Amino acid sequence: MKVCCICKISKLLINYHKDKTSKDGHSYQCKSCAIEKAKKHYLNDIEHSKKIRNNWKQKNKDLSIKLCKDWREKNKEKIKINHKNTEEKLRENLSYSYVKRLLTQHNGFSKEHITNELIEFKRIQIKLKRLLNGELV
Ligand SMILES: [Zn+2]
Repeated sequence: MKVCCICKISKLLINYHKDKTSKDGHSYQCKSCAIEKAKKHYLNDIEHSKKIRNNWKQKNKDLSIKLCKDWREKNKEKIKINHKNTEEKLRENLSYSYVKRLLTQHNGFSKEHITNELIEFKRIQIKLKRLLNGELV
C-alpha cells in the first residue's frame, strides 16, 4: 500500500505507474491522478501537444500511416455513422458545400458559375420544396 501524494488516498502498488527514479520503484502519484494531470496538461496546452504529435508523425511517417490505416480498418462502422451524421447535418442546415454539390451534380452548373446569390436562391428553392413536402425547415 502507498499513499498518493496528490489525492492522499492509500492504494495498492498496482495503482501506481512504475518509476525507476523513486525509492520503491513506483510513481509518487497514483495512476488516476497521473491520468488526470496528463489530461489537464493536454487541454491546457493543446497547441504544444499538437506540435509534439506532429513531430512524432514526421519522424515516424510509415508507422503513423500504418496506425491510421489500422484505426480506420477497426472503426469502419464508426466512420460510416459519423459520415452519415455529418451529411445529414449539412443537408439539414443547407450548408454552402451541400447546396454547391446539388447545383453541380444535379443542376448541371459548373463550379466557376456558382455565386453566393445562386447558393442563396437554391437554398430558398429547397426550403420552399421542403415546406411543400411537409418537412420542417
Ligand atoms: Zn491519486
